[in-house]
Amino acid sequence: AKAQGRDGIIVFNEALAKRVEYHLELERKLYFALEHNEIDLRYQPQMNQDRQLVGCEVLVRWKNDKFGFIPPSEFIGIAEKTGLIIELGQYIIEEAFKTLKRWEEQGIVLEQFSVNLSVRQFFHVDFLGQVEALVEKYLTEDTRKKVIFEVTETIMIEDMYKIIAIMNKLRRIGIAFSMDDFGTGYSSLSSLRQMPIEELKIDRSFVNHINKYESDRLMISTILAMAKIFNLTTVAEGVESEEQFKFLKSKGCEVFQGFYFSKALEQKAFETFYLNNREQ
Ligand code: C2E
Ligand code: CA
Ligand code: CA
Ligand code: CA
Repeated sequence: AKAQGRDGIIVFNEALAKRVEYHLELERKLYFALEHNEIDLRYQPQMNQDRQLVGCEVLVRWKNDKFGFIPPSEFIGIAEKTGLIIELGQYIIEEAFKTLKRWEEQGIVLEQFSVNLSVRQFFHVDFLGQVEALVEKYLTEDTRKKVIFEVTETIMIEDMYKIIAIMNKLRRIGIAFSMDDFGTGYSSLSSLRQMPIEELKIDRSFVNHINKYESDRLMISTILAMAKIFNLTTVAEGVESEEQFKFLKSKGCEVFQGFYFSKALEQKAFETFYLNNREQ
């Protein structure tokens, strides 16, 4: 029994070592991913209450020769830890703006176009200047007003006043902000009230359990009522069923995103989706 126990520990250590090794290798490979064109963007449709396409969320993908498809949940954290998120984040914003420009030229008109930001990006000395330069380079007076940067609640526990100042400068050039994964993190109503945001995204975890838990339905109703008081647009993420869509809509949610409507699409596929689902 003792030997077995020891084996158990050895096996566990090997698994752990493998995991650490994997992460170190991802970290090394991530440095080259940008140069090797392994980073791609996908666009997940966002629909209104009448099931018409009104916008999209840009989601990053990494395809590597050795590991295949690596989900953002695996590498965004690594990029944040190593600081590579600055370069990666900048690349994502630039590629996203290129798409927005292309769509404008093609007459593809959306109400909003959302890009995820990591809080680390705000602390880079020239984040503001770099975003401004990209806006100048790719966006018109019209398209820049469609851009929404999604931030998470962690933004409220960092140097909040510094972040608010940067957000306000970006708002002056037309960019809006959305509070992502709302309800999952640490945040208080009073700090939410101080954030210059115009949109709340209800986290998938609440939407998932609509059919199961009264408490989650209550949570959603409360968030939607509160958003109304603060005059914020509401987006539900992870909508997977008709039932979830109907419940959210009945409680006043305005925008819906999830597999029920579509997964995140490649640019071309999104363009086709637009033609079939645009607002009439
Ligand atoms: P998120 O911002 O909450 O993005 C939504 C995630 O939910 C996406 O996963 C999306 O594919 C997935 N999803 C959408 N609809 C459904 C649904 O109906 N059911 C289920 N089960 N899932 C759904 P993804 O693309 O794997 O991204 C995971 C996370 O990685 C994102 O969560 C976001 O935090 C981060 N991320 C993705 N792209 C970027 C980026 O460009 N920059 C930064 N900083 N983070 C990113
Ligand atoms: Ca998001
Ligand atoms: Ca989210
Ligand atoms: Ca989420």
